[in-house]
Amino acid sequence: MRTLVIIALLGTALASAAKAADAPYDLLEIDNWIVKWGDEALGSGAVVTYAYADAKRSFPKARNCQDIAPLSKLLKATGFDEARFRQETERALAAWEKAANIKFVPAKVGQDADILIGTQGRPRGRAFANVSLPESRRLAAIQKSRQLASAQESRQLSAIVDTGSARRRHKPLGIARIKKSLVCLNPLQRWKIGRDGDGDVYDLNYTLMHEIGHAIGLDHAGSRGQLMSFRYQDHLMGLQAGDIAGVRRLYGSAE
Ligand SMILES: [Zn+2]
Repeated sequence: MRTLVIIALLGTALASAAKAADAPYDLLEIDNWIVKWGDEALGSGAVVTYAYADAKRSFPKARNCQDIAPLSKLLKATGFDEARFRQETERALAAWEKAANIKFVPAKVGQDADILIGTQGRPRGRAFANVSLPESRRLAAIQKSRQLASAQESRQLSAIVDTGSARRRHKPLGIARIKKSLVCLNPLQRWKIGRDGDGDVYDLNYTLMHEIGHAIGLDHAGSRGQLMSFRYQDHLMGLQAGDIAGVRRLYGSAE
């Protein structure tokens, strides 16, 4: 499995294009592919399995969450019990389910879950997600970029100067089905359940909602105002208009 992405740390500055001023969102792109679960068509629903890491696992090709560990270290440090952690995760999943036509089901024992949730084996930052595509999609992206480079060379040779100053965002190659997503939390950070206005200690449910947003194909939606914005905003309760518009673009409205 070739893993290709990066994502998101709450609090990391990544530029993000707003699709609409009133409800901004940005779809995640990996190697120029828009990514989602389920059928490779925007607005089509999906059923996604998830599991909690029950042992240390390594994903050497992942950009984030390369080493995933069980929840135990975080639970011990925070004093949360596992049932409570799971409850907060399920609430986070339910928020996305309520917003769009996406369903999350626990992976069966022995089944390789679509989304694996755990803690970081090598703690850094607060929380990350990692989204990977099949190798074939990465190769297609490489091939395409070579074609583009060669087309650019031809244009330069013909000495035609493009005076247009508008730098259009590249066109995505298409829509690709996600192969696997990882969500990992730093067990050495302080965490809380509930809001108290302290933006330095992140709420578990908020963080899980945000990282699951990446795990299902959403990128950051600007700096603030949305749950998918890259800044942690302790006062934001639940998904905002842009988050909902974004997940509906990918999966359609909830049935
Ligand atoms: Zn993020």
